[in-house]
Formats: sequence, structure tokens, C-alpha cells
Amino acid sequence: MDESRLRAYLEHAPKMIQYLETKSRVRYAVAHKYPDYYQHLPGALPGGRSLDPELFDTSLLGDELKNLRSPSPSTLLMGRIAWTARDAHKAMAKERGWRFKIMGLMLRYQLDLRWRRKSRMDRRAGLGSALVSSLRRSLMDRDVPLWLKTDFRELVLDGGKVSGIVVEQGGVRRTLRARKGVIFGAGGFEQNQQLREKYLPAPTRAGWSATPPGCNTGAALIAGQAAGAATDLLEWCWWAPTIAVPKEEKPRGRVCRAAFPGPSW
Ligand SMILES: Cc1cc2nc3c(=O)[nH]c(=O)nc-3n(C[C@H](O)[C@H](O)[C@H](O)COP(=O)(O)OP(=O)(O)OC[C@H]3O[C@@H](n4cnc5c(N)ncnc54)[C@H](O)[C@@H]3O)c2cc1C
Repeated sequence: MDESRLRAYLEHAPKMIQYLETKSRVRYAVAHKYPDYYQHLPGALPGGRSLDPELFDTSLLGDELKNLRSPSPSTLLMGRIAWTARDAHKAMAKERGWRFKIMGLMLRYQLDLRWRRKSRMDRRAGLGSALVSSLRRSLMDRDVPLWLKTDFRELVLDGGKVSGIVVEQGGVRRTLRARKGVIFGAGGFEQNQQLREKYLPAPTRAGWSATPPGCNTGAALIAGQAAGAATDLLEWCWWAPTIAVPKEEKPRGRVCRAAFPGPSW
């Protein structure tokens, strides 16, 4: 990792969190027992540097709730009840009071009678779903338009300079002109078999990814590279074993099982 990027991260990440907490509905708590990944390095802490989103009440999304993808069942208590990473840690590590914590979460879910009549899913969202739903609600608060089901297709180049993009919505292509520039937030290519074979260790299969099908096909990466953009670290991924469960949209990531003592597979 380039030193200047690390420094930029350290300088700007706290400002970014402060911005989110003052200007949006995103709320974090410190995860005191989420260890730094590289415990053998000097300065590593056993916890306190990672942030855990607070649960978010998804009823605040109104009709937009239908656009929120269901979380992977393995991230929920009993496949349906939302919890924070702190709650999950307490239960999995069987810390003092873990049974009460689980009973409390189950009761909260069961006694939410109005919501129980509407949906099997918890009214509250945790983890990544809490983050995206609080961000989505914050966009709604400010009337920021968000185009869903809109696929980036290609860059518009004028004499080698990027001047816009072509997107596809419901089979119709539209050209969007950029006033200042185009920023991609879609470098992942886990659903692209060819790119996986090019950059990742073999064997590799797009179908093993826990990403929902159709997302992150690498379109932005391919277009950026074709326009001469520099890329880096493409052989690095966030890895975890996955298990395909019949009839589920995508495989489940097995994120923390391997950290448990004893045979946990
Ligand atoms: C299981 C798991 C757990 C993780 N846990 C943590 C954690 O606890 N903390 C942490 O900091 N990080 C975590 N990460 C990493 C973190 O989620 C990623 O680094 C981050 O989401 C990357 O953000 P991004 O915006 O660059 O890309 P993404 O989140 O992948 O977003 C890209 C978006 O672009 C869209 N897109 C792709 N192609 C197109 C196209 N052609 N047209 C239109 N849209 C397109 C996709 O649908 C997607 O919405 C985790 C990752 C995984 C897989």
C-alpha cells in the first residue's frame, strides 16, 4: 500500500465519519472487541478501531424499502433478526449475559406486532443494511435523486478526454454529459469470470461470489482501463469461503467460523 494513501486515509477518515454523523442519519458505535486484522504488527489493538452501525428502523424508508436487498441470512440471528456486530460477538463468544441478549433481541422481534403482520423480516436493519438504509434515508431527506436499475455501459470520450457516460435503463440507452468529471465507485469484478481468471488465483468461479448476481461485472474497470486509467492491487480481494444454499439468490459467506476454536466446518 502506497504510504501517501495511508496518510490520506488517516487524515480524512475521521473527518468523513464526523461529516456522516452530523449531516446524515448514519450512526456508528465503536466495536471495542473487533480486533485489528494484523495482530502481530506493532501498535495493533485487540479492538476499538472498527465502527459498527447502530440498528436502523427501515420503516423510515417507506416505499423505498422494497428496493432494499435482504441481507444474507447468515448475518442475521436465526436467519431473520437483525443485530449489531457487538451483539453477535457477545453471543458467539458466549460472554456474560449472552443468553439475555439473545432473548431480548428475539422478544423485540416478536413483540413488534404491527411489523410481524407485514413481514417476516425484522423492521430493524444491522451491519451493512443499516449503513445503506440510513444513507438512503439521508438522500431522501435532501431530495437527492438516485437512479436504480441503471447500468453503466460506456464512457463518452471527446478527443481522448472523458466527457460523459452512456447508461442503460430498462433497455433504453441514455447519454449523460459530465460538467466536471466522472467518478467510478464500481471497481469490483467478482461477477466477471474473464477478469477473475486474469487477476485471481485459479481455480476461480464468478458463481462462488457472495455478491448478488448481476452486480460488479467489472464494466467500470474495463471502460477505465480502455480509456488509459491506471489500476492497482487487482489481485487483492476480501476473501472468505462461501457455501451455496439451494434456492438462495447468492452463496453465503462464511466469515468468522474459521476463527472459532475446534472443528467448526
Ligand atoms: C462480506 C463482506 C464484509 C465486509 N465487511 C466490511 C467491514 O466490516 N468494514 C469495512 O470497512 N469493509 C468491509 N467490507 C469491504 C467493503 O464492503 C468494500 O470495500 C466496499 O463496499 C467497497 O465499496 P465500493 O463503493 O468501492 O464498491 P461496492 O460496494 O462494490 O459498490 C459498487 C456499486 O456499483 C454498482 N455497479 C457495479 N457495476 C455497475 C454498472 N455497470 N452500472 C451501475 N452500477 C454498477 C454495484 O451494483 C454496487 O452497488 C466487506 C466486504 C465483504 C464482501
